[in-house]
Amino acid sequence: MSIHAALLAACLGTAGSGSEPPATKTPQIRAIWVARWDITSPEDCRTLVRLAKQYGFNTLVVQVRGRGDALYKSAYEPRCEFLKDQPPDFDPLGTILEEAKPAGIAVHAWINANYTWDSETPPSSPEHIVNKHPDWLMRDEGNRLVMKAGEDVEGAYTCPSNDEFRDFLKNVYLDVATHYDVDGVHFDFIRYPSPRFCYCDRCLRLFQERMDERITPERRKELANTQDRLAYTRAFPREWDKFRREQITKLVYCIYDAVKAAQPKMIVSAAVFPDYSDAFSRRFQDWKKWLKDDKLDMLFPMSYVKSTERLAELVEDAIRSSSGKPVVAGIGAWQITPEDAVDQITKASELGAVGYCLFSYSITKKGTQTDYLRKVSEAYPKDR
Ligand SMILES: [Zn+2]
Repeated sequence: MSIHAALLAACLGTAGSGSEPPATKTPQIRAIWVARWDITSPEDCRTLVRLAKQYGFNTLVVQVRGRGDALYKSAYEPRCEFLKDQPPDFDPLGTILEEAKPAGIAVHAWINANYTWDSETPPSSPEHIVNKHPDWLMRDEGNRLVMKAGEDVEGAYTCPSNDEFRDFLKNVYLDVATHYDVDGVHFDFIRYPSPRFCYCDRCLRLFQERMDERITPERRKELANTQDRLAYTRAFPREWDKFRREQITKLVYCIYDAVKAAQPKMIVSAAVFPDYSDAFSRRFQDWKKWLKDDKLDMLFPMSYVKSTERLAELVEDAIRSSSGKPVVAGIGAWQITPEDAVDQITKASELGAVGYCLFSYSITKKGTQTDYLRKVSEAYPKDR
């Protein structure tokens, strides 16, 4: 059984059913997240797949959209600036697929959804969202754009209440899902950075329109008289949070439906904040609902913690909240030893996770240090 078929069976809840021989039991998903700076040359891509094969990893989750840019041949977005010294025909995703497919390794396209830029210096391409559609970007309570990382924000995010942006992002996911033989598409940054966003004029207007239908003319007048731009969000904080959650949910559903209509066997997954109450109330990322509504096939909680006990709590909670959908435990490899990673993976597996995903391939320093992969691989031989 190929790893894709196994993953798909796990998503559809048909793995290991009574009618199937034991040989088709879902193999453990042994995955690695691969960030864009680790695939900036053909050699990087080949080394990545060679090491994955050598150490028994069966799934690569490869970042092909980092900051509103592309590490594949995109019909919509500029090429990632990390590739500027490479020949124009170098296609990281295409190269990885060419190598990974014959090796039997599944490849998921990791696509950052809302996170779009991380510097005061704008992108060089006039085609980049930041330059072409600054009105698509989130604003804080003071109606300010935020371009670089701060305490509670990583940089510029796109605002999900915008129909035009939603349609654009759907096309980005579809572009990858229909032009590349990937096994899945993977959401990341499918959320707000923090409750300080988004207070753009459109969000405030849409929210006001929604609330005006529910309140009395007197109340409307009263709110208008405050002359406060944030009068409605202050007056109805719970509804305002709900409004924001709905924007992200709408974006997920729109993309999920479009991808599945085009590619029914594509696995749509998401990297999420592992603590659901934090995800729900501070990131407006309602992943429990997405799974319950069948708008997500697989969950990757980013359970990046040092303690195995805490990891167990997070993974257990994710599994309990996943409506039977498979959960892949995200392991913060950069901050723990390979021995601790093995401990966490074992625990997650005992709790019912279908596998693990190491964050990230950067622990190998572009493939020059392979001890970590070797140690994890030795603890989990291929026949598990
Ligand atoms: Zn907005």
